[in-house]
Amino acid sequence: MNRDRIAILGGGMLGVCTALELARRGRRVTLIEGAADVLQGASRWSEGKIHLGFLYAGDPTLGTAKRLIPGGLAFAGLVSRILGRGLQEFATAEDEIFLVHRESVVDAAAFEAYAQRTASLVREAASRAGTLPYLTDASRTSIRLLSASELSEVTCSDEVIAGYRVPERSISTVAIANLMQQTVLDEPLVDIHTDTWVTGVRRRSDGRLELVTAAEHRALVHDGPFDVVINALWEGRPAVDATLGIHPPGPWSHRFRAAVFARGSGAGPLSAVLCTGPFGDVKRYADGRLYLSWYASGLLAQGDNIEPPRESAILTSARRDDILKRTLESLAKFFPAVRRLNEYTDEIGVNGGWVYAVGQGSLADGASTLHRRDRFNMTIDRGYISVDTAKYSIAPWLAVRIAEIVAPAS
Ligand SMILES: Cc1cc2nc3c(=O)[nH]c(=O)nc-3n(C[C@H](O)[C@H](O)[C@H](O)COP(=O)(O)OP(=O)(O)OC[C@H]3O[C@@H](n4cnc5c(N)ncnc54)[C@H](O)[C@@H]3O)c2cc1C
Repeated sequence: MNRDRIAILGGGMLGVCTALELARRGRRVTLIEGAADVLQGASRWSEGKIHLGFLYAGDPTLGTAKRLIPGGLAFAGLVSRILGRGLQEFATAEDEIFLVHRESVVDAAAFEAYAQRTASLVREAASRAGTLPYLTDASRTSIRLLSASELSEVTCSDEVIAGYRVPERSISTVAIANLMQQTVLDEPLVDIHTDTWVTGVRRRSDGRLELVTAAEHRALVHDGPFDVVINALWEGRPAVDATLGIHPPGPWSHRFRAAVFARGSGAGPLSAVLCTGPFGDVKRYADGRLYLSWYASGLLAQGDNIEPPRESAILTSARRDDILKRTLESLAKFFPAVRRLNEYTDEIGVNGGWVYAVGQGSLADGASTLHRRDRFNMTIDRGYISVDTAKYSIAPWLAVRIAEIVAPAS
């Protein structure tokens, strides 16, 4: 087992954390990435909410919250261990504000009841022995309804019918991607092949696995065979799985979402999210970075084929300009400080990534299966391990689970 040849497909948060976790256990791995560098996809360009389940009020079964809580609680501890440093300077500094929109698929009373049940699950999980500390003390998690005057300090919009302080935090994924990238580049047990597009995996007659790469990278096929192949390709994962006859556990969809990423100093809007549905949010991280998103302005492409509609998701400069303008206009109707963004930012741009989900429909529809995110799975077939990351916040925790399967601690 110690001599097993291991390939990890995909250099996002899941692939990189898994590579580093296996290296920590003394295993050499080959990490394969289609882009020119690792950590350039969804794991760099997200709002980095370290989910404790509060956003999924559209799933009153609590199934989504229950599946996200363990990984969310473990995120900061696991990433701090990998990076050898604390994460507070990259996190949002205060408990986030959840604003219930009047067109939310969950009304204020239902949101409050849901959030209280979720808070109780979080408290219970955080109090268990051995649980790593979250970005704030999660063992005392509770939610608080904002008074009318507190609410008026957060938003100027009468489309908001209630606001709550929720002890959930987010992290600047750009800052973490930079640090993780350097860490994996410095790790001698991880051989990184970038610019290598994987189109399939083939099982040989001896049971070992060969990679099939796009024509210009054929040489890599001879770099195999591998005893273990871990598919962490996110939006590219189902197409490669299909070459081994593996299919998603239910109807799925791909969406490309773009948002505004800025950096500045000093004041700026508070971190707040409009829930539940196709609205938007603002994040202000302690390092001065900002994330601003309006769902309808940033949704560039969506599809439900095995491959995502990549051609429709190209971020041209005209598209970036349009997304920037429409995102800020929409958010300014709720958060007046967004109008003065130029005063406190010196870097501003539009970027995005794919969201793959076992679920379909529109977020505006309460019956859409996208409101449930508990159907993510791991498929294991004789050395081939395919993992749906589902959320950035659970990637480090999933990486430990994968490493325990491939290289159990003795
Ligand atoms: C706008 C936005 C907001 C989000 N907000 C949150 C949030 O607040 N909290 C949260 O937890 N999650 C959030 N997510 C989801 C989160 O970003 C993803 O779940 C997570 O980053 C996926 O990590 P990953 O490593 O699986 O994928 P990625 O980071 O995308 O890595 C996959 C890698 O595989 C490569 N690849 C793909 N196909 C191939 C191929 N065929 N051959 C070679 N390489 C290939 C890609 O180039 C990429 O580098 C958000 C996503 C977006 C887009």
